[in-house]
Amino acid sequence: MGLGCKELPCHRITDYGAALAVQGPAVVPQGISDTGEGSALGSVVWMAAPKHRRTIEVNRCRRRHPTKLIEIKRNIDVCPECGNLKQKHVLCGYCYAKVKEETRLIRKEIYKKEGGPLNAPAVETVVLYEGEKPTEKDEGKRIIERARKRPSWFVQN
Ligand SMILES: [Zn+2]
Repeated sequence: MGLGCKELPCHRITDYGAALAVQGPAVVPQGISDTGEGSALGSVVWMAAPKHRRTIEVNRCRRRHPTKLIEIKRNIDVCPECGNLKQKHVLCGYCYAKVKEETRLIRKEIYKKEGGPLNAPAVETVVLYEGEKPTEKDEGKRIIERARKRPSWFVQN
């Protein structure tokens, strides 16, 4: 044990830690105990601490190791509809927003016409855009008119 020796202070602390790990708080000398009583709650707990500073080169090698870096996305594609960048196999966010907005406006038209979802007839819905006339196969269906040109992506069926 290094308790009585004339080593450097840092070496002495290490020795106390080793002694504590083996024998428990009962052997903590009066001088370094928190409360001076050596009770289990008030005693000093020695934690593991690095003994040497790591150089900046070593730290950078660790931090910039390939497994620690963010992976580069290679599944980026150009949207064929609007030209914005989008993830492959995923619906384009800009196009989705367009469809969502148009759907919202169509629903608003339906609400104006029928006054709520409870009055909706149990028939197919046909959306007619500016300059379009209902054909004979649309007879009996619910017809919603929109005061704008048909968007290119909204195909008529
Ligand atoms: Zn798009």
